[in-house]
Amino acid sequence: MADLRSARPAAGYTPPRRDPSLPPVRINLHSDTQTRPTPAMKAAMMAAEVGDEQMGDDPTVWALCDRMAALLGKEAAVFLPSGTMCNVVATLTHCRPGDEIIAHESAHILTSEHGTHAALGGFGILPLRGARGQFDEAALTAALRGTSRYAPPQTLLSVEQTANLGGGTVWPQARLDAVLAIAKDAGLSTHMDGARLMNAVVATGIPAAEMVKQCDSVWLDFTKGLGAPLGAVLAGSRAFIDEAWRWKQRLGGAMRQGGVCAAACLYALDHHVERLAEDHANAAALARGLSQIEGMAVEAPETNLVFFDPSGAGMTGEALCAALRPHGILMSVLAGRVRACTHLDVTAAMIEETVAAVRAALGR
Ligand SMILES: *Cc1c(COP(=O)(O)O)cnc(C)c1O
Repeated sequence: MADLRSARPAAGYTPPRRDPSLPPVRINLHSDTQTRPTPAMKAAMMAAEVGDEQMGDDPTVWALCDRMAALLGKEAAVFLPSGTMCNVVATLTHCRPGDEIIAHESAHILTSEHGTHAALGGFGILPLRGARGQFDEAALTAALRGTSRYAPPQTLLSVEQTANLGGGTVWPQARLDAVLAIAKDAGLSTHMDGARLMNAVVATGIPAAEMVKQCDSVWLDFTKGLGAPLGAVLAGSRAFIDEAWRWKQRLGGAMRQGGVCAAACLYALDHHVERLAEDHANAAALARGLSQIEGMAVEAPETNLVFFDPSGAGMTGEALCAALRPHGILMSVLAGRVRACTHLDVTAAMIEETVAAVRAALGR
């Protein structure tokens, strides 16, 4: 069985503490996870009716799960601490050791979950190529091997909506439906990493349940732009969620008075979904402002993530981020480009200030 000790310690394992010599961050474009709960969200958390979630008697957690199951058009749902745990619980529920998962080469499950699927589940992940975090019908069809005495069983297709490292892109519904149908025809289960699903829903106007109709499992993160301090909800059939609960317990993800956190998620569903359109408008404004700088390569944003490469404008991404930080502006370099995320703590005025600061840093 897997040797769980084999994760080797290395430099950079422990996140660095905040550097006290730097001024506080005022414009936080590093991630849409950087939001602070609003006073109204905190009030909703304070007022939450709670019970023991692990014993199944926290009414606020049940309310959130019922609401999410309805929103996503699934029979049942389970509350988990994080999106990563949703992916881990879902793959452990769908697959058995030796199985192969198919996903885009830039998918979070492949690039950003520390090999969990191999370490805990014994699964391989077959990476597919394709522009902007997506693959097409031909790429998937070519990757399917069929049943064989030699090849690992391919049991799960995973898609990411929106595709994070792909640039926050939204799958065209026809392509999404087509790849999910091909997977199902080949006998695979289908999973959606819907960390930013509601960004895709707001950007397209397609209802969530329709978007994920062919997904056997799907989850939404409440800490990505929706402003909650923690929490994600995984949905699927009743049998799937029953089995997912066993993995939740095994991984230590079962909670006690979880309603305090579920209340923040319910608040986010009521108050922070439609406003994602503002984040998309701010991302578009940032991309417009940056692309007016000569030499700057900007990927056209579809939602709230703006990826760009300033090297043609005279500075590496790392150097630009370092030059902005003393001005209280935080961005990061991800997969070779700078990523700037808009979210509910970022205003249109901050976007203007950011564009001006980038110009100044580049000496324009
Ligand atoms: C952030 C993210 C995750 C993980 O979610 P956490 O809540 O941070 O664990 C998974 N998939 C995608 C696409 C993400 O962006």
